[in-house]
Amino acid sequence: MNFELTPEQEEFRKVVRGFAEAEIAPFIEEWDKEERFPTETVLKMGEIGLFGLLFPEEIGGGGADFLTYVIALEELARVDSSMAITLEAGVSLGAMPFFRAGTEEQQRRWLLPMIEGKALGAFGLTEAHSGSDAAATRTRATLDEATGEWVINGQKTFITNSGTDITSCVTVTAVTGEREISAIVVPSGTPGFAVQPAYRKLGWHASDTHELVFSDCRVPAENLLGERGSGFKLFMEILDEGRIAIAALGVGMAQACLETSLSYAHEREAFGGPIGRYQGVAFKISDMAVALENARNLTYKAAWLRDQGLPIRRAAAMAKLYSSEIAVTATREAVQIHGGYGFMEETPVARFYRDAKILEIGEGTSEIQRLLIARDLGLPVDT
Ligand SMILES: Cc1cc2nc3c(=O)[nH]c(=O)nc-3n(C[C@H](O)[C@H](O)[C@H](O)COP(=O)(O)OP(=O)(O)OC[C@H]3O[C@@H](n4cnc5c(N)ncnc54)[C@H](O)[C@@H]3O)c2cc1C
Repeated sequence: MNFELTPEQEEFRKVVRGFAEAEIAPFIEEWDKEERFPTETVLKMGEIGLFGLLFPEEIGGGGADFLTYVIALEELARVDSSMAITLEAGVSLGAMPFFRAGTEEQQRRWLLPMIEGKALGAFGLTEAHSGSDAAATRTRATLDEATGEWVINGQKTFITNSGTDITSCVTVTAVTGEREISAIVVPSGTPGFAVQPAYRKLGWHASDTHELVFSDCRVPAENLLGERGSGFKLFMEILDEGRIAIAALGVGMAQACLETSLSYAHEREAFGGPIGRYQGVAFKISDMAVALENARNLTYKAAWLRDQGLPIRRAAAMAKLYSSEIAVTATREAVQIHGGYGFMEETPVARFYRDAKILEIGEGTSEIQRLLIARDLGLPVDT
């Protein structure tokens, strides 16, 4: 057993940390306030190879392992989780379905620009009436044999990266027959595909999220991704892997809370000395450090399992569940340690506090993670 990262991974961590501190930290307060998706910065993330990391070098990727990708997400989230989720949704949700199930032509057209970081793909699973119960999708796609086109009707809710200037397409799940759900690619700008105005969210203000509406939206039959009827299974496998990535966001956020709480506990004085003298403050920070260590270990272990080609469902659910819950706790305690300043938007922990909550909801709520773990333990849990 070896808990050390490789020299390449350590070096890479420094590169991403440097990028996040130079290109994101100085601007994030403004983007957050204006609820602005910073396309130019996302393109720069592409230039340093973040979107291609996981993909083979032969197709223009970085050929890195999943742990390296986790490190990138962790470092971005340490500064800002809107940018981390932009990368996560771009890679795990946008590009990965094409890598796993795309034809050569689909990969050439859609995946390669995503790997280069010049285009973003979105993942349309959730609907107004089906989130956790994603198989209850009502969006339908009917094959018009006369024209060789899918005709899509329905809507998708809360879709990340779906309305940016560089979004090239969204892959949606749709009912294509009796007990049959397929994945279909809808290019941005297709007539009948309407991207609704951006949501106003509690957090992740610099991340792009929209409702999507499909009204007799026609796409060519060859936009089917994978086999007909395999869409739901494909999306569930994509989510298993995505959960390790969400866990990495929790680790990065908790890391930031630990660092900032530690330094504030040294510098802030009350009753004639630094607040870190008081056990009421110091023990919060000790607990934060323990939780962070556990979350990082669970997340890296899940990434390692994925890199070994071993089953990941339980490990990914455990990492996602634990990391997101400790991130919520860490951000709450960090605000508490910063007192009234922690409530002010000029202090980054205020943004972290708003941003953390979504980790317990997106890509499967905490309840759904517990359900997956219980089932994997062999319990006959009902849904
Ligand atoms: C900012 C943001 C970005 C998102 N991005 C995307 C995206 O890119 N693509 C996409 O497809 N989706 C996306 N989502 C959707 C997200 O995955 C869903 O919101 C999430 O899966 C929960 O679904 P729901 O909101 O319908 O809640 P519901 O499923 O209605 O759940 C409501 C509550 O009931 C609980 N619950 C439901 N079923 C059970 C059960 N069987 N046992 C116990 N408790 C249960 C849930 O845990 C939750 O607490 C995003 C959401 C947000 C907020």
